[in-house]
Amino acid sequence: MSIRVAVVGAAGRMGSTTCRALADAEGLELVAAVDPLRAGQSLADVAAVSGNASSLVVADNLDALVAAKTEVAVEFTGPGSVGANLVGLLERNIHAVVGATGIALGDLDRARELAERGPARALVVPNFAIGAVLMMRAAAEAAKYLPHVEIIELHHDGKVDAPSGTALRTAELIAQQRASVPDSPGGDERHPGARGAIHADVRIHSVRLPGLVAHQEVILGGAGQTLTLRHDSLDRESFMPGVVVACQRVSTLAGLSVGLEHVL
Ligand code: NAD
Repeated sequence: MSIRVAVVGAAGRMGSTTCRALADAEGLELVAAVDPLRAGQSLADVAAVSGNASSLVVADNLDALVAAKTEVAVEFTGPGSVGANLVGLLERNIHAVVGATGIALGDLDRARELAERGPARALVVPNFAIGAVLMMRAAAEAAKYLPHVEIIELHHDGKVDAPSGTALRTAELIAQQRASVPDSPGGDERHPGARGAIHADVRIHSVRLPGLVAHQEVILGGAGQTLTLRHDSLDRESFMPGVVVACQRVSTLAGLSVGLEHVL
């Protein structure tokens, strides 16, 4: 029997691509799409992106997901709403696959509690592209041997949060593997921000430009050498196999997990 799935943030760039991918995926049935309407948008537009307008429940709040007997919901809204939606899904006993970045720590703690105690599980995935998962893993491994490391992340100019969730996660994975944190020269930073933001003791530089999708470089430096690891998502299709496998497997996980590697 197919798993009943829904998309929250269904009219957005990621949400609409996800609706199409889920509607075509084996073993999944897209039953609901949630998105508040924006100027110039209609419910029919949102339903049409799924290619399944006749049976799809389209709504502007999570309650409709219960009526649609949703088992798994994919969250692709943004930093202002993702935390409350994650908690709201778990409170409604719906497994949550979260792609949006910027969950507030308080919401994450509450979600972890709900996912451990209740019947619904949560999988938070900063990047669904398999290449990005491999790049993060390689960066963490390389940092064991080359602890001097900085991250440059590059995204389209519509991205609302910086640094990206992928960059933050990469820094955390590096911090878990590095035996020591080398001094990171700040120099005389004449313009604030020139040396980037610091997360988990790793410097992160964020580029925002039209034409970009989602890209990241991790540069490690050693005596007389550098190692550059780079991943490019050239199209949002790159995220879809990861989204599909996350929906298929989230119910088999324990509690709340972070990272696509849990379902690979
Ligand atoms: P977008 O602005 O194009 O889409 C967001 C959509 O969410 C909009 O249609 C908006 O109306 C809707 N929305 C806002 N508040 C809502 C709410 N409370 N309930 C339901 N819908 C709501 O953004 P995007 O480019 O699609 O990115 C969405 C998120 O996904 C961002 O946080 C981005 O960083 C993240 N992202 C994650 C990955 C990944 O692999 N995990 C990849 C790309 C983007």
